[in-house]
Amino acid sequence: MGCGRLFSIYTCPQIIPRSTRSFLQPIKTNGAVVLKSKDAKYYVDGVKAGDRLVLARTITLIESSLPAHKQLSREIIDNLLDRTGKAVRLGITGVPGAGKSTFIESFGTMITELGLQVAVLAIDPSSSRSGGSILGDKTRMERLAVNDRAFIRPSPSSGTLGGVAGKTRETMMVCEAAGFDVIIIETVGVGQSETTVASMVDFFLVLMIAGGGDELQGIKKGVLEVADAIVINKADGDNVARAEMARREYEAALHLLIPYSPNWTVPVMTCSALGNRGIAEIWQKIGEHRRQLQDSGEFEDKRRKQALQWFRFILDEGLRNWFYTSDGVKNEMPLLLEEIEAGKTSPTAAAARLLNFFVRGFS
Ligand code: GDP
Repeated sequence: MGCGRLFSIYTCPQIIPRSTRSFLQPIKTNGAVVLKSKDAKYYVDGVKAGDRLVLARTITLIESSLPAHKQLSREIIDNLLDRTGKAVRLGITGVPGAGKSTFIESFGTMITELGLQVAVLAIDPSSSRSGGSILGDKTRMERLAVNDRAFIRPSPSSGTLGGVAGKTRETMMVCEAAGFDVIIIETVGVGQSETTVASMVDFFLVLMIAGGGDELQGIKKGVLEVADAIVINKADGDNVARAEMARREYEAALHLLIPYSPNWTVPVMTCSALGNRGIAEIWQKIGEHRRQLQDSGEFEDKRRKQALQWFRFILDEGLRNWFYTSDGVKNEMPLLLEEIEAGKTSPTAAAARLLNFFVRGFS
């Protein structure tokens, strides 16, 4: 799909929702049992037809850690590959309370009013600690949750960031194959999650709020470096002037950074997610960014680099898993940890021993 169709409010054909709201109900059945009897064709055909129930089941399969499910989900994704890549991939981050869900509610609703379909996914590396996903409570996006053109999927509530992110990327691809025009990946500003999300989307939006004048101190430099736009939210009521001041401060801070792209100047904008102001302008900016990067060839280049980065990431994950789940490593590890703690072995020597064992196959 060209950006002309996506970003044209007036020429965009209406997309008829293919299913009812039932997909929004979390699948409560034991995925292992339900999914076992279906083969890859069932999922591939269902996803291609835009069947929301099959889509939800496919995502459950992707999230499963059972080897048989992993194998099946790989087969499904392989068969859907030619249908992926056409959506606008959008990442959104911001500290808790910045207004992410309010923003996604306004922004997502506006997108659906343009006749487009939007999928909202989340990466929340803290969820395993807090016991819930940032999107677990769907009432956070009440209007979007009952919108037939929207699909909201909480992240798995446990696992390493790498594991969760991997699943989110595959979920994004499956949503694209199901015909979603815009995929929003939400993450809280924790650890590495922003850079991980930035590495899988076309446009990375950082949502901020005006603080007490020292807001710049709170931003991680790394986040500014991966942002495609910075948006100061809650620019309403008494807060308009403060938001504008923050906007100028961020703009000045950005000037100090070397631009990551010769084709894009990172804009700093203000909006009111609650008052629904400045939201359409952000969508326009995203369109502008896409056009400029496509015209210069940077867009394709970015997607290619992301695919390579992803390949390496999966290899790393696979090697790590292979290593830590091997019987030899599992047996030796407690002993080595004890020896290091007791000062009997140095960490370097212990690591070398384990790696050597592993290479030689623990004979
Ligand atoms: P999240 O934790 O980043 O998802 O933030 P929420 O969307 O839950 O918003 C946190 C609080 O800020 C809620 O009480 C919202 O109503 C409020 N909020 C969000 N956006 C705006 C806005 O544009 N203006 C104002 N005044 N409040 C907002």
